Amino acid sequence: NAQLVWLRNDLRLNDNPALYHASTAGPVVACFAVCEKQWQEHRDAPAKLGLAQALLTAWAEDAEKLGIVLKIVHAPMFSDAPKAITALAQEIGAQGVWWNKEYPLNEMRRDKAVRQACEQADLAVHEYDGDVVLAPGTVTNGSGDMYQVFTPFSKRWRQVVTEAELSSCPRPGKQTPLKVKGDSIPGFGGEYRADLWPAQRDKIQRNLHNFCSEKLAEYSDTRDIPAHRGTSLISPYLALGALGIRHCIEQVQKDQGPDGFHGQWVTELIWREFYRHLMAAKPRLSMGKCFRPDGEKVQWAKPEYFEDWRQGKTGVPIVDAGMRQLLQTGWMHNRVRMIVAAFLSKLMLVDWHLGEQHFMAHLIDGDFASNNGGWQWSASVGADAAPYFRIFNPYRQAEKFDPNGDYVRKFVPELQSITDKKIHQPSEQQCRALGYPLPIINYKVARSTAMDVFAKAFKG
Ligand code: FAD
Repeated sequence: NAQLVWLRNDLRLNDNPALYHASTAGPVVACFAVCEKQWQEHRDAPAKLGLAQALLTAWAEDAEKLGIVLKIVHAPMFSDAPKAITALAQEIGAQGVWWNKEYPLNEMRRDKAVRQACEQADLAVHEYDGDVVLAPGTVTNGSGDMYQVFTPFSKRWRQVVTEAELSSCPRPGKQTPLKVKGDSIPGFGGEYRADLWPAQRDKIQRNLHNFCSEKLAEYSDTRDIPAHRGTSLISPYLALGALGIRHCIEQVQKDQGPDGFHGQWVTELIWREFYRHLMAAKPRLSMGKCFRPDGEKVQWAKPEYFEDWRQGKTGVPIVDAGMRQLLQTGWMHNRVRMIVAAFLSKLMLVDWHLGEQHFMAHLIDGDFASNNGGWQWSASVGADAAPYFRIFNPYRQAEKFDPNGDYVRKFVPELQSITDKKIHQPSEQQCRALGYPLPIINYKVARSTAMDVFAKAFKG
């Protein structure tokens, strides 16, 4: 009674419902599908795939100790998955196929096709909502619909969630050995900063615990300061599923007691759930459509300076620091993600889809739902209570959140010598002397143009 567990973005042993429940039904064989063409189409960053490969390798080593072998199947496109998965299941004589659900449209379509192929092959399918605490569709307003904005969603989420839903399942016990030989993991990933992003389970767990026990108390004060290590840096592990969401919440409660559960950090985890629920409820989000229909009417400008933005050469130091942090580390601080996204979509008036794609192509934590949600929010076309005329002033943002310019100096070293006062807006003379570009926009003019363009789209 072998059971096949199909690993995807859930590269963990603990808090993995599909894996745990399969292990109670029979000896488990795990598999991972290499979908290189589909990943390319989805613009998954080489760095993210590199970390995925390292996490999968670490997973296989740990799983082997439990008697679970890892098989690799090749499914260049998701459409190849039904055949590849059922063929493996039949080859190992599996009774059932088990996985944790994913909510973007292509993934849901893939799973539907695999489910049908399994049913035809007489294989039982078992699916779990392992990537969220509460399943999409279970946090709804009085009329039974998905919330349009975050705050009421998060209030409701906290009201309805039960202790049982918050508790993670254990890792599987030792499995009866099967006569199935594991495969070696092919090189599908690109380079990434392994010094910043460890792949070993004990290190990832230690970092989470250190954050929850030492940093969480000051999270509300420091989370917006990009020069400070005030956030958890767990996003790549949540995106690839090396950490489970329930496990993270349990860790907060262990280290901080009930206050931890009610605090800001869990609210951020609920943002992640919000975007997953939205994606499941509105398939059109997966097709590049705006949450707010008026967003489709925005007249974007030609992406004239797009390459400068991508390379961190806009002449606006906080924007350039963020864009260079992304290229150098595969990650960018959340406050700066908001600043650079608003800069592109509002002040440069470049279609937010181009920014979304660039982020996806470089982020080690690239996550379709959160990235799409973050970009739509920043461009005021998403699920958001704020009106379209919220336009971030990058200079004021920089003065507020990087008051001494430490973040800018780290990633824009040519501005090292500039005083704290001038660092966020160096003079033309300083820029020329230091070989730093002059700003590609005039803030006042760009703001006023953006207001006109967005008003036209949203007011008709
Ligand atoms: P912490 O502050 O420690 O938060 C803990 C976790 O909560 C994060 O790891 C993340 O899983 C979740 N979280 C926090 N803030 C948000 C948020 N605003 N939306 C959704 N989840 C959140 N996050 C991604 O994981 N992948 C993306 O591709 C992504 N793209 C983004 C694009 C834009 C334009 C914006 C504005 C935000 C994006 N975010 C994305 C959200 C956020 O920036 C990152 O989750 C956060 O910076 C990760 O750092 P951390 O783990 O230290 O976060």
